[in-house]
Amino acid sequence: MTKKRESFLVFGAPTLGAAEVREVVHSLKSGWLGTGPKVTRFEEDFKAYKKANHAIALNSCTAALHLSLLAAGVGPGDEVITTPLTFCATINAIVHTGATPVLADVDPQTMNLDPAQVAAKITPRTRALVPVHFAGRPCPMEELLCLARTHHLTVIEDCAHALETEYRGRKAGTLGDFGCFSFYATKNMTTGEGGMILTPDAEAAARLRRLGLHGLSKDAWKRFADEGYQHYQVLEAGFKYNMMDLQAAIGLHQLQRIERHWERRQQLWQRYMEMLSSLPIGLPASPEPETRHAYHLFTVLIEEARTGVSRDAFLAAMGERRIGVGVHYLSVPEHVFYQQTFGWRPEDYPQAQRIGRQTVSLPFSPRLTDQDIADVLEAVRYSLGLRFPRSLKTLQRGAGVSTRARLKISQG
Ligand SMILES: *Cc1c(COP(=O)(O)O)cnc(C)c1O
Repeated sequence: MTKKRESFLVFGAPTLGAAEVREVVHSLKSGWLGTGPKVTRFEEDFKAYKKANHAIALNSCTAALHLSLLAAGVGPGDEVITTPLTFCATINAIVHTGATPVLADVDPQTMNLDPAQVAAKITPRTRALVPVHFAGRPCPMEELLCLARTHHLTVIEDCAHALETEYRGRKAGTLGDFGCFSFYATKNMTTGEGGMILTPDAEAAARLRRLGLHGLSKDAWKRFADEGYQHYQVLEAGFKYNMMDLQAAIGLHQLQRIERHWERRQQLWQRYMEMLSSLPIGLPASPEPETRHAYHLFTVLIEEARTGVSRDAFLAAMGERRIGVGVHYLSVPEHVFYQQTFGWRPEDYPQAQRIGRQTVSLPFSPRLTDQDIADVLEAVRYSLGLRFPRSLKTLQRGAGVSTRARLKISQG
């Protein structure tokens, strides 16, 4: 038996530096915690990085998706098409507009929306399309934008994984009508919690800014600033979705690190591909030509028929080796709420169902050391039963007493 790690390798731990700490302390000492000059600077920097026209910082990507849908005029009676292989927030944002989410299955190789499946789901009620650039790989935007143009659909890109993603020379989040980003702690850059919308449309940008702050008139966030009290008007019933300066303070410096972190994750991706290629697991497809992958997630597929190990037993064994792992994602129709509300069944989206039941995300942070990588590889081999001299079949019959075998049995 090999030794266990001293410490648990946390999945998706953020990479923060002294500059972030200094900037947050500066905000605290300044007394300006809420939306203010740092949020404005962060929006400017983000806009410049993405070569976008307008940027609106919010407190989450979920808020960004919700407001983008509202700004697109999506509401009750409308249908919005998206992927079953996403985080529930993508779907919930649609639900909260009163519209009906409609799922189209994914391509088994890219794990992104399959344009043929999308085309089959378009009805006269379809109003918008929400492609998710899964794991950081861009969706086939040319085909999706063509469908959108033909059927007059608004395109809202869920770029939660796609900060650095590019598609044929254009940056993710600037291909559709709205691009929504997440700065949640596990994402490629973080503000703790945070989000951003990009849009080329000045009018939509003004509406989004208003909707994010109670529906108040322009610059109402300055109402307690040192210029003295200023009246404001409520123009519509908005939401409380604004980003704080405390969050932007972190984001300003995270943004400066993203290319360096991206390069490190690209190296990690190559290391993983080399190290894992001889093992009986499914590896991610290579990035497509003329695209840039954001390398947000490194996902492998555990096929029980091939390895004799179930995905859930694999997850448990990785935890036992003190390696943090993730599942992105159990397909949306596996969740009880959507089954009860929309009558969705996992088997109606067979590609997403299969991926969701086989997928495991390995640690993929730029902070990983060579020793961490070696530990991940050792844990993967252990979890696949490759350290055991006896065949997996023997273990399954209960002849072995290893924890892995017991796990296997307990998982059915
Ligand atoms: C993280 C994530 C979200 C939600 O982002 P928040 O900033 O946490 O609201 C939405 N969609 C996808 C695909 C995500 O991974």
